Amino acid sequence: MKQLSIVENVAFNLIKQAVIYLPEDVKEALRKAYAEETSETGKTQLKAILENIVLAEKHEAPVCQDTGTVTFYVKAGSQVKNLDGVEAALVMATRKATREIPLRPNAVDPFTQKNSGDNTGRFVPYLHWEIVQGDSLELIVMLKGGGSENVSAIGMLVPSEGVKGLKRFVIDAVIKAGAQPCPPTILGVAVGGGADVAMKLAKKALLRPLGEANADRRLAELEREILEAANMTGIGPMGLGGKITVLRVHVDYAHRHPASFPVAVAFNCWAARRASARLSADGKVEYLTHKIEW
Ligand code: SF4
Repeated sequence: MKQLSIVENVAFNLIKQAVIYLPEDVKEALRKAYAEETSETGKTQLKAILENIVLAEKHEAPVCQDTGTVTFYVKAGSQVKNLDGVEAALVMATRKATREIPLRPNAVDPFTQKNSGDNTGRFVPYLHWEIVQGDSLELIVMLKGGGSENVSAIGMLVPSEGVKGLKRFVIDAVIKAGAQPCPPTILGVAVGGGADVAMKLAKKALLRPLGEANADRRLAELEREILEAANMTGIGPMGLGGKITVLRVHVDYAHRHPASFPVAVAFNCWAARRASARLSADGKVEYLTHKIEW
């Protein structure tokens, strides 16, 4: 990548897009939830959420006061130049976004309790790297609030519990989470790997566009079953009762150790903020989820 300043500029735009404008697929799922919700209270909550989304866009203000912690997923072509400068560019973009949008400062040293004030710090923003073929760079930003992050769940199940145990674990996590992750939520579920791999895959599964079917038919069926069960809990929008507790379930998996059966559940609140763009070697930028530029 010739100009790291382009990377910084694009990353800034992505943060701004994500924090103000929910992706179209998320808005569509929320509209559908409003149409399908049968509880009066649940409907009122969804109406307030939809109005909130419109107001955020109108005033170009963050859709939620908790602007979350910033995570980047970087898909880098093996021929991209200056990859060693990408992290610094993303950190600069995060600082600028914190100042100018602004974002709530959400990076705290766990020992001193000192807030860095600019959403950067040790492993913040966190970068997930993936090396692919080619010479383009794809950036995805995810901003995730504390409410949904705090109910993440990891269980080291006994292999004999199998998929039945997995379903029970996920539904227990949804019930335990209750109102805390601001439902209706999106669930990222992953099984296998070690505890770290399962959680990484569960969180990454939240990036899949809502409505995009799982290519693996077994997983698609599992997603449908978990969604149905989660929406029988009655937790409802914002935890105030209703039929729509979860918008979508996305499942992924890794092969596991014979003695291990890790299951991870990552929650995203209704304010499921993500944005992505692709940068070509010639400096061309294509925004993938949002079409707004500043
Ligand atoms: S869980 Fe999401 S919607 Fe609720 S306060 Fe946190 S960021 Fe905002």
